[in-house]
Parts: sequence; C-alpha cells; structure tokens
Amino acid sequence: MSRVPLIAGNWKMYKTCAEANAFLDVFMAEEGSNGVDVAICPPFTALQTTIERLRSNSRVQVFAQTMHSAPCGAYTGEIAPPMLRELGVHGVILGHSERRELFGETDSALAKKVPAALEAGLTPILCVGETQSERQAGDTHRKLRQQISDDLSEVTDEQLSNVVIAYEPIWAIGTGEVATPEQAQEAAGFIRALVGDRSKVAASQLRVLYGGSVKPENAAELLGLEDVDGALVGGASLEPHSFVAIIKSL
Ligand code: PEP
Repeated sequence: MSRVPLIAGNWKMYKTCAEANAFLDVFMAEEGSNGVDVAICPPFTALQTTIERLRSNSRVQVFAQTMHSAPCGAYTGEIAPPMLRELGVHGVILGHSERRELFGETDSALAKKVPAALEAGLTPILCVGETQSERQAGDTHRKLRQQISDDLSEVTDEQLSNVVIAYEPIWAIGTGEVATPEQAQEAAGFIRALVGDRSKVAASQLRVLYGGSVKPENAAELLGLEDVDGALVGGASLEPHSFVAIIKSL
C-alpha cells in the first residue's frame, strides 16, 4: 500500500502576518512538486493570510495548531471546527505535547476533538509520544498504547485511515536530540500495529509521521524508514530554505 508522504511545518507561536508573508515569498518561489503532501500550521492569526497566498497551490495545505471539540459555545478564547473550515483550513494538529504539558490538554478532551475534526472535514494530526523518563523506564509502548487507545476511542474503524498520527518523543522536541532511525521506526511500526489491532485496512493506509528535531541534515534518513510517512517539523519549518530542503529530501 503506497501512502503519500506528508511534511507538516508547525510554526507554534511564531510569525505575525507580515512575517508569514515574507516566509511565503521565498517558500512559494522555491518549493516544487515532488509527489509529497505539504502542510503549514501557522498561528490562528496568520491562517487567513496563509490560505489566501497558497490558494493557487493545490498540494500545500494549511492546518491549525489546536481547536475545541464543540461546534460553538461559551468557551472564551477557543476556536471551533466549523470556524476553521469556513476559513479554508484543511486540518488541525491535536494533542501536541506543548498543549498537553503546558495547557492541560487531556486524553478525554482529545477523544472528543479527533472525531469532531473528522466530522468537520478537517484532517487531524494526532501527536503521541513519551517523555525521557518514560523511555528510560521502558514505558514507551505503554504510553503510546494508552494515548492511541484513549484519543481514538470515539473514531470509527472506517474513519481511522483519515487520521494522521505523529510520533513525537517529547525528549526530541525542540531539543536538537533526534530519535535514532531504529527508535523512530520501532515506534512508528508499533503505532501502525496498534491501529492494525482495530483495522488492518486502516493500518495500511494511515500515515504515521515522525516529529522531533527534524532538520535538512537528518530528514532523508528518517523519511526513508518503512513505517514513517512524513514529518512534523517545528523549528526547521520557520525558515523557508530549511523547510524546502526537508520537503525535497524525500
Ligand atoms: C514540533 O513542534 O512538533 C516539533 C517536532 O518541533 P522541533 O522540530 O523543533 O523539534
């Protein structure tokens, strides 16, 4: 089963609209089609600008970085799935470790958010991964199994293949310490097997990304792994030349 790779750039809380435009001036001139899906995940305030600039490029999609599960409601400061769809957003990162660790996003909230994204026509990128101490304690599989089981509990087997799962070991995010190819493949393969326990078809179609200090220098090796279908890139996606170099390393 051939899966189209996805390279997604998570800008986190970086880039004003002016800075997003400056990035896109360079990025749009340099990125060329190579059979890969690409997504840019700007902060909420730069979504519209980014969507308008990329409207003519069918392969570069625009994703949000989080959302609420409800379609509307008295949730001050939150953004609902239909609001993102109305703007032309294609998908949303859910369960990033920064949201989990710094903003208290729970597995029970994610169990509602993942199906809400799918229902709204948004592709969820669900982030899962272990801390350094969990890995050292041999707890990586237990953590991944628990997150996948809880966060996808309300997603039907038929919908599973529309979810993207990003394996993001927390100790590798923004640290410069990248997982070895063996660690990334082992975890991505384990995630695919967990999905396969529910649906073999979904497991063969669903994309598993690796995230954590992906750079132009290490991208080709990680992206060449059997069960790794792309990357979720933080720091290196902020600079257009390095993001394009990662896309082109596939
Ligand atoms: C991320 O934010 O999801 C990420 C992987 O960041 P970085 O590439 O900077 O480690």
